[in-house]
Amino acid sequence: MRKKIVAGNWKMNLDYNEGLSLFSEMINMIRDEVTGKQEAVVCSPFIHLHSLVQLSKGYDKVSVGAQNAYQAESGAYTGEISAKMIKSVGAEYVILGHSERRQYFGETNDLLAKKTDVALKNDLKPIFCIGETLQEREANQHFGIIKSQLQEGVFHLEEDQFVKLVIAYEPVWAIGTGVTASSDQAQEIHAFIRIEIAAKYGQEVANNTTILYGGSCNPKNAPELFAQPDIDGGLIGGASLKSRDFVDIVKVFNQ
Ligand code: PEP
Repeated sequence: MRKKIVAGNWKMNLDYNEGLSLFSEMINMIRDEVTGKQEAVVCSPFIHLHSLVQLSKGYDKVSVGAQNAYQAESGAYTGEISAKMIKSVGAEYVILGHSERRQYFGETNDLLAKKTDVALKNDLKPIFCIGETLQEREANQHFGIIKSQLQEGVFHLEEDQFVKLVIAYEPVWAIGTGVTASSDQAQEIHAFIRIEIAAKYGQEVANNTTILYGGSCNPKNAPELFAQPDIDGGLIGGASLKSRDFVDIVKVFNQ
């Protein structure tokens, strides 16, 4: 069965020491309180990655990821960080296509297809984000937007590569706004994503693909969201900056 994952996205928050102390708190709480087979992933700024990987050694329910990677393997791209560099410090995941990257840095589906290729080539697992804006939802374009984000961003992959992805559905209107998609709204899109994956790669691949929900997820709304049949966990922004909240969301999958 597909993996249940709760991934935190710290965004551009926490200096080095603040990040280490938050992560230390989290991993101790996870060790003491998490009883299921779920995985907690913390996606930090680049400067924390190496230290978080070191701290997470021996904690098999905790993994570390980056929030972005460059689309070229290496070269004269001042200030950028490559997938190989991220992998070299022991991180396992990388968020790609977060709506803030699409919105503020002009990342397109075509560019994200390249980033996905380079991340996979370097053995990172992409958490590939898709989702519609409020305007697109109000114009009833959300299914079409999701479909084209999948088709142009990741459906060029061969099956053996696609199966390494985690998909995150994040309606842009729900990110950082305090407005969560209702569990029915989220389930409707997650089911649609799974149907699209099945049409491209077959039902077995679709059944095994982890699809996360993201957008103002918190310990209160997570149980209902995660109880939906096609929601396999969450990508958590604001609530991942508080150890108690983040671990409580991870614990929704306790058995
Ligand atoms: C996110 O940034 O991926 C996110 C879901 O943020 P928040 O939980 O704060 O809405």
